[in-house]
Amino acid sequence: MKLPPFDYACPTTLSEAVKLLAAHDGEAKALAGGQSLVPMMAFRVAAPALIVDLRKLVELREVRIADDGVTLGAMVRWRDILDDKRLAAAQPLLVAAAAHVAHYQIRNRGTVGGSLAHADPAAELPGIAVTCEAKITAVGTSGSRVIDAVDFFRGPLMTILNADEIITEIGLPAWPAKRRFGFQEFARRRGDFALAAAALFYDEDGKKVRNLHVGAIGVADRPLRLTAVEEAVNGKTIDEATIAKAEAAAAASVDPPNDIHASGAYRKALIGVMVERALRSAAA
Ligand SMILES: Cc1cc2nc3c(=O)[nH]c(=O)nc-3n(C[C@H](O)[C@H](O)[C@H](O)COP(=O)(O)OP(=O)(O)OC[C@H]3O[C@@H](n4cnc5c(N)ncnc54)[C@H](O)[C@@H]3O)c2cc1C
Repeated sequence: MKLPPFDYACPTTLSEAVKLLAAHDGEAKALAGGQSLVPMMAFRVAAPALIVDLRKLVELREVRIADDGVTLGAMVRWRDILDDKRLAAAQPLLVAAAAHVAHYQIRNRGTVGGSLAHADPAAELPGIAVTCEAKITAVGTSGSRVIDAVDFFRGPLMTILNADEIITEIGLPAWPAKRRFGFQEFARRRGDFALAAAALFYDEDGKKVRNLHVGAIGVADRPLRLTAVEEAVNGKTIDEATIAKAEAAAAASVDPPNDIHASGAYRKALIGVMVERALRSAAA
């Protein structure tokens, strides 16, 4: 389908990009990989008067790995994450999730910042961000701010970002070498958006679980932390009884609506199964 008409700018500095967004009072949109914005424009869900292409902002393409964690620039693509062998050790949960994002061609273009700003409740990265207590940095005309991932997502395709703000990076806390993790997703076909997915990690105290973080994707209007599951499992060993409690707590924590892809009851059961499988794979 043809896109609606729009003006186009390709700034070479972040401050120029922010000024362009600010000058258009909500009528301008940043363009990153275009894998969500362009289809939205084709379907007339979005019709920005100005597209501000971020592709020349090379400083947003950086991946930094340090003792205190990993920082991904907003223009880092799924392909960059999957190809970076350092990330497989530094953030294995992120890499496991990125492998489920879309299809080959889309992973070559889609970006971290675009996924966060687009805020699809079934997208993997927002779920990882909430699970891992990531911090998202955005720059606007009034300066830079750092937002906790849990506060960033406001609903389907809605975030706390102002119209003049550009995400510059996301920071994920350091990942201890012995940490255990699991990521399980169910989609109709590989690469489709998740009908439901669970992301989790924990550390061990002897054989007991501590510091369990559990995230749920695709079962609410935004990614969720399943604190009831964390409470049910922290301090326990992973055995059949604990796994059964975790599964039941996960299903009881959510109340997904019916939609064209699945009933709410189906997704509710599915998130229990995803948590169960993720715990088993983490323990194994
Ligand atoms: C067929 C198909 C299947 C897909 N499957 C999945 C999937 O399974 N899982 C998944 O997570 N995603 C999926 N996607 C989406 C894909 O991952 C996109 O990469 C992602 O949602 C948006 O990234 P983008 O870089 O393409 O952003 P764009 O499309 O360029 O932008 C998306 C939105 O974010 C805004 N934006 C972009 N960058 C910034 C920034 N730095 N600061 C502020 N705002 C910004 C734009 O203005 C726009 O509103 C799929 C897409 C398609 C077409």
